[in-house]
Amino acid sequence: EMEKKTQSNRLVLFPCPYQGHINPMLQLGSFLHSKGFSITVIHTQFNSPNPSNHPDFTFFPIQDGLTAEEISSGNAVAISLAINANCTASFRQRLTQVMEQDPENKITCLIHDDVMYFTKAVAKDLNIPNIMLRTTSVTNFLARTALLRLHSKGHIPFPDSRSLNPLPDVDHLRLKDLPTNNFDTLEKYSELAGNAHDVRTASAIVWNTTDCLEQSSLAQIQQQCPVPIFSIGPLHRIEAAASSSLLEEDTTCIGWLDKQSNNAVIYVSLGSVASINEKELAEMAWGLANSKQPFLWVIRPGSVSGSNWMEQLPQGFIEEIGERGYIVKWAHQRKVLSHRAIGGFWSHCGWNSTLESLSEGIPMICTPSFGDQNVHSRYVSLVWKVGLHLDNELERGEIERAVRKLMVDADGGVMRVRAKDLKEKIEVSLRNGGSSYSFLNKLVELIMSL
Ligand code: UDP
Repeated sequence: EMEKKTQSNRLVLFPCPYQGHINPMLQLGSFLHSKGFSITVIHTQFNSPNPSNHPDFTFFPIQDGLTAEEISSGNAVAISLAINANCTASFRQRLTQVMEQDPENKITCLIHDDVMYFTKAVAKDLNIPNIMLRTTSVTNFLARTALLRLHSKGHIPFPDSRSLNPLPDVDHLRLKDLPTNNFDTLEKYSELAGNAHDVRTASAIVWNTTDCLEQSSLAQIQQQCPVPIFSIGPLHRIEAAASSSLLEEDTTCIGWLDKQSNNAVIYVSLGSVASINEKELAEMAWGLANSKQPFLWVIRPGSVSGSNWMEQLPQGFIEEIGERGYIVKWAHQRKVLSHRAIGGFWSHCGWNSTLESLSEGIPMICTPSFGDQNVHSRYVSLVWKVGLHLDNELERGEIERAVRKLMVDADGGVMRVRAKDLKEKIEVSLRNGGSSYSFLNKLVELIMSL
């Protein structure tokens, strides 16, 4: 009966156009589609997802008004603010069109990324309920709340941005772990975060996290939040969702992994936004080479400042590593992490990467650069104790020791076992009777009641 009812119900999704936001949104779409909902994705032209990967969804681009300069600036805060400022009319027009084209198939609700807050007013105006998707951790949300509060009281910037003093109201974090970034001014960032935090019109908040990872942060947020929260993650494990990669995924690395022994390879990737300089590249390269462990390294084109791809790798490095290392521009990360040859993940600790690693029981080396990455690094190393946080500037000797500890040395053994335990707990939460499983069912019920 559920199938029958939902078939005439359409959900409109509006993702924030970055890889780390598009993936969980489309994964949520795949789950809801499996429950019988029709899925329409309205998206910006900027970083538009590839419709051919999701033949079951309907995609509609809207004009986003972004200038070539804005896009090439890489300023994610300015770009997100501009989309919110520019897109009200074009989104409204699209939404109306979707409603008029298929009046039988009414729009049950809009599910939007919390950063794409402009969509809420449009939906409200057209009498469409809205549900908010949050694609980063609850702990990061608490840290960002603390950041907004300190900023509004005039306490930021601190005299010492590397302060080790504890952050008020958020366990295990220090002032230096506050999720700041260098994209734009603190005023602009506060405007974006403040708007994303406003839940007044939301029917529900869907959070890509799970109880066994963030129990105390979830308890804290549930007390403060007037809207029901559904912690249903990790979303990538729920439905066999197709890849929603914006970049072409290298497939040859899987063949290389097939030739390696079990748990022998460290996978290295700093995600879709972070970048490094030539010095950091050299330290990473020699740290990996000197560890003598096989590695699969994603060097995203444009991620090394001042070059197109890997031109700045130090001389002699490629000869030195021979067959022991494999470098690609972009990988199918979920597939890589679930490969039997992978034994460790050196990550920037974006929330998706963190969830993907924990779900596979892979211990991590954490080198965060900004924002929520700082928060997740602390949790990986200090709370879940499944990884090593490299706190200082990248240095080859420290990297070499960390890789060996993570992958082979006896003193890393406890961490490797704990990672397997955590994987098991995450699996339990997704099974019948688990917390994410029951929140998913409750979410479907809630949507059907709207
Ligand atoms: N990813 C990928 N291939 C790569 C590197 C990353 O498919 O070579 C995916 C990864 O699986 C994750 C997303 O890109 O889902 C990155 O999101 P995350 O939140 O980890 O970090 P961000 O890129 O937003 O900093």
